[in-house]
Formats: sequence, structure tokens, C-alpha cells
Amino acid sequence: MKGVLFDFDGTLTRPGAIDFPAIKQTIGCPGDVAILEYIKSQPPRKRVVLTEILEGYEAEAARLSIPNKGAEACLSTLRMRDVPVGIITRNSLKSVISALQQFEGSECHDFDVVITRGAALPKPSPEGVFKAAAGMGCLAEELMVVGDFRFDVIAGKRAGAGTILLTNGGASTMAPGDPEPDYICRYFDEVAEILLDKLFCFDQ
Ligand SMILES: [Mg+2]
Repeated sequence: MKGVLFDFDGTLTRPGAIDFPAIKQTIGCPGDVAILEYIKSQPPRKRVVLTEILEGYEAEAARLSIPNKGAEACLSTLRMRDVPVGIITRNSLKSVISALQQFEGSECHDFDVVITRGAALPKPSPEGVFKAAAGMGCLAEELMVVGDFRFDVIAGKRAGAGTILLTNGGASTMAPGDPEPDYICRYFDEVAEILLDKLFCFDQ
């Protein structure tokens, strides 16, 4: 393993900032359909309106986002040791830039690659993982994809990467028939331990 690709919301940031059920209710998206896919299925005019509503929610959530416990320390350790680190998210670049303002010592340009909405097909497509790997100078199989939602694990697995599902102390979001994540962690600190162990176990 050579690099780490993090999901953003609920992974690098503390979960709960984005209220997905509220967004779904406002835009009329059924509970079992993903928001971006629902918007994409609507007629063009309605799509524009719904996207604006979504972006309003996202902007507010980004403003309220705070780093997940242990995330800043992990990022700075990875950076100090020259490990390629990227972000992959279904959220917008604007939201990521805004939320990163609450992070000590991490701005967009501190990441080797930031794949946001529109830069690749959204997760669970593996396209963004492949794109990220190329930008990080490694193969997808050399990446560990870390995320708190089943789409993160599915995208990572489809690309051939290692995967860590972070549950943030809650229930797993994986569904029957989904691929198994390589690791399941309750808290970010456990993610950091696995990453450092996988990356540097041959150093000591
Ligand atoms: Mg997430």
C-alpha cells in the first residue's frame, strides 16, 4: 500500500453535518434512492432547481463541518512521511474548500488529488478512484480507500483498492450483496492505526 484516498463528509469530517434525510425530503427523493442519481433522473429544468437546493444544504453543512477526531493528526503524519493522500467525494469542490477551513494545517492544495462532483462519475463508480490513483502516482491496487458509506467501499473494491469502512460508532451502512470491506473501524483513530501499520510496518 502506497497511498490513502479519503472520503470527505463523515470520514475526514465529523458525521452529522449534512442532513441527508432532510435533503431527500425537501427535493422529493425516495429514501432508498441516492440524491445525485435522483436529481440526474429528473427533467433538465427541475434538475437545475434541485441542484440549487442541494448546494444550499451542502454549503450550510460545510460551514458547520468540523474535523473528525484524530483526522488532522493523521493527515499531518501522512504528509510528514510523504505518503500520497487524496480526497474523493460526491460533494462539490466549493464545500470541500469551505469545510477545510476548519482544519488545522490542511487546505485543498495539501492533498495530492481532490476528486469532487463532476470530476469523475460519482461513487460507487470506481472511475474517481482510478483517476485519483493516476494523480497520486500509484496504482488503484496500491491505495487504501477510507469512507463511512457503502458507496466508498464499493467504489474502492471495484477499482481493486483496499478498503476501510468507518462506522463512527454507529451501524454499518453496507447492504446485503455488497462487497466486504477489508477493515471495519468504529472510530477514526483505529483507521489511523491501520494506515500507519500498513504503510510503515517495514520501517521499524
Ligand atoms: Mg461520507
